[in-house]
Amino acid sequence: MATGDEPLQFRVLGTFEVTRGSRRCTPTASKQRALLALLALHANEFVATSRIVDQLWSRGAPRSAIAALHGYVTAVRRVLTPGLTSARTSHPVLNTRPSGYMLCLEPHQLDLTRFRQLVKQAQAEIAAGDCGQAREMFTAALGLWRGSPLADLRETGMFDHDISRLEKEYLELLRSRFDVMLCQGDGHLAVFELEELCAKYPLWERFHEQLMLALCQAERRADALNAYARAYRVLSSAAGIEPGPRLRAMHQVVLSGDDPRHWHDHRHAGLRVAHSVSL
Ligand SMILES: [Zn+2]
Repeated sequence: MATGDEPLQFRVLGTFEVTRGSRRCTPTASKQRALLALLALHANEFVATSRIVDQLWSRGAPRSAIAALHGYVTAVRRVLTPGLTSARTSHPVLNTRPSGYMLCLEPHQLDLTRFRQLVKQAQAEIAAGDCGQAREMFTAALGLWRGSPLADLRETGMFDHDISRLEKEYLELLRSRFDVMLCQGDGHLAVFELEELCAKYPLWERFHEQLMLALCQAERRADALNAYARAYRVLSSAAGIEPGPRLRAMHQVVLSGDDPRHWHDHRHAGLRVAHSVSL
């Protein structure tokens, strides 16, 4: 297969990278790179010119912004597809639309699409009662993360909103993956990572709750109580709040000496069942 025939690959879950086979096609000029990253974040969606200008010139666009944008689009098309004859008006991937643009990608060409597909499939597996399969899919989704999303564009401040949304999706993924690990009774494998997450994201109460359960599964009930005391302290000092009902309920169960049960809803043949795992 000739290099030119290989599909472009876009990656946003780490530094922004565009490749075609072994060749790097990431624009080096920062505005061009930002433009392409913005379109990749909204692949297969119409993105209005006005929105692109607002995001690329967040401190106020100069009069020449639209003309500059047209220049960037042409330059980006040439980087994506060298030898293109009419880069000004058309491109197979970066399409011009009335008053805007659209980056047209197949699902396998963008890590973010693949990531969201895997998460959705994993959630369907949980609903169908197969936490083992779900765990494999969550792990595969996690494997697509190469680091902080759009790390090389973070300093521009243009992507603050997008980056925080992606980071939230990442934390949700971790939470879901620990849920299935705990459902399978593998809490002892999750303790170390959960301790790190609780320290790094002290306001995510679900991580504290999961850590308590993981410690119980590892037969470390006293440490589970200590984890609650730590969560209590950090929530009140950092945010002036008390633990929510789920975390308090977990504390009560651990205190009482009962087996904490972790459960989530599985749906078998349309029936809602509470699937629970005792220690
Ligand atoms: Zn389960």
